[in-house]
Amino acid sequence: MPEPPVADGPLLVETLAIGICGTDLEIAAGDYGEAPPGEDHLVIGHESLGRVAEAPADSGFAAGDLVVGIVRRPDPVPCANCAVGEWDMCRNGRYTERGIKGLHGYASERYRISPDFAVALDPALSQVGVLLEPTTVVAKAWDHIERIGHRVHWEPRTVAVTGAGPIGLLAALLGVQRGLEVHVLDVVEHGVKPELTRALGAEYHTQPIGEIGLAPDVIVECSGVPSVVMDVLYQSGHDGVVCLTGVSPRGRNVTVDAGALGREIVLENDAIFGSVNANRAHYEQAAQALADADTGWLERLITRRVPLDGYADALQRHAEDVKVVLEMQA
Ligand SMILES: [Zn+2]
Repeated sequence: MPEPPVADGPLLVETLAIGICGTDLEIAAGDYGEAPPGEDHLVIGHESLGRVAEAPADSGFAAGDLVVGIVRRPDPVPCANCAVGEWDMCRNGRYTERGIKGLHGYASERYRISPDFAVALDPALSQVGVLLEPTTVVAKAWDHIERIGHRVHWEPRTVAVTGAGPIGLLAALLGVQRGLEVHVLDVVEHGVKPELTRALGAEYHTQPIGEIGLAPDVIVECSGVPSVVMDVLYQSGHDGVVCLTGVSPRGRNVTVDAGALGREIVLENDAIFGSVNANRAHYEQAAQALADADTGWLERLITRRVPLDGYADALQRHAEDVKVVLEMQA
């Protein structure tokens, strides 16, 4: 890649690390993503950590700062939500995303960015700051869970998180930080997922959610597994809030008694909603959540660090992977 164009923004950033997630694997397989207009390739990398190399004096940033680039950019119209900085709720779908949709990502040794789309991180997060972007996804989910919960007098005590991947474990972390009793459910019986769950002081279950004898006040669905998605719709407690964050594959049919499900949702005042992406406020909330977390726990979430020249291996799933990170500087 050539040096990044000055038109991309006045901050010059040296990329330290790029997190790899399921979206990157889909892009690499050609199933998702969009190159910039007129180009035949897309630089991936939407989960990033960098260090500022050059910053104008009035930018609010200085050389040496740890920085993360925001992924989404408002649509050009802009719609009512993008116009007020809520690009995560874009109404016309014409938003762009660095490393995913119409804009090159951060997986180059250097990139440029406007300070409006850069977020400063606590210097103590130099080994784990690449987890900021996935944390923004759960910061938004929790923000909306709380807004929805407060439709009434609300005293939540228990939360169930389905799926113990990076998003599920970070959702559990934010639940623990809120003082809730957290239950994490996954089919994996041994290894880092149950260990990290217990290290948070949360409970780990390998049974389906209907079999753990819990009626959680909040459920955060992070697996995207169709049968699990259907299960969680039935399993929240009265006045429950169920947040779906996992992106399910199409074409997997599950038989549902739609009458019974609708009846359950109505008679229990359940609220079920979907959540994706994040705006600047969520990046700031996530930066605070990481700064408040145990750095050692966050480091254990990164189960594999791959040097840049091993990128092809970073794009392969290994059985014990939780979060895989590409190290960008030799
Ligand atoms: Zn918009």
